[in-house]
Amino acid sequence: MSIQENLLEIKATLPSQVTLVAVSKTKPVADLMKAYGAGQRIFGENKIQEMSEKWEQMPKDIQWHMIGHVQTNKVKFMAKYVHLIHGVDSLKLLSAINKQAMKHNRVIDCLLQMYIAEEESKFGLDENELKEILHFLQNDTNGMQNIKIVGLMGMATFTANQNQIKKEFLHLKTLFDKYSTLKTKNCQLKTISMGMSGDYQLAIDCGSTMVRIGSSIFGSR
Ligand SMILES: *Cc1c(COP(=O)(O)O)cnc(C)c1O
Repeated sequence: MSIQENLLEIKATLPSQVTLVAVSKTKPVADLMKAYGAGQRIFGENKIQEMSEKWEQMPKDIQWHMIGHVQTNKVKFMAKYVHLIHGVDSLKLLSAINKQAMKHNRVIDCLLQMYIAEEESKFGLDENELKEILHFLQNDTNGMQNIKIVGLMGMATFTANQNQIKKEFLHLKTLFDKYSTLKTKNCQLKTISMGMSGDYQLAIDCGSTMVRIGSSIFGSR
């Protein structure tokens, strides 16, 4: 099937409250333009340089999501255009994003990445670290006027065990429900970013509102 067909087929199955991020990392602009032609306006990349090159070449009504791990010294390369940063996992990174956003007179939306998998390799916060960051943001004099925390993101363990994946997704949903009642000037959890090609249907059943799908749209990498 073509990229257009893959995209339209997936979109047809998504409930209306679920946002599709088309994960286009490693794929050429020509492939992204096929998805664009089929109406897709949200793309996810995991490397800032690659995302910036694509941003320069492609139509400006695209929303670019950074879904990879971000180094603080690279934030400046995407600060003027990035729409949502999924992988925020420290106050240090948050304050680097705030500083760069300020230079461009913007407020940059961020998701806090939670550690939900049973794998050493996955980045993310545990509940205590999440609480610390939320607590910090409750203080209105925190100086972070140029970021907004709009939700949580998580990645399940890479396994065929559906029960395991489900358990991890439900853990993220539980955290979301627990902390989404908290509203401050620069924090209100609305989005749960979870689910990829192999597990997005399960993620939606567990409460996901944003799925990040790459290979099922663009083919394997
Ligand atoms: C690559 C990637 C995806 C998409 O993975 P697919 O299995 O190709 O759908 C989703 N989220 C993150 C963080 C990724 O790095």
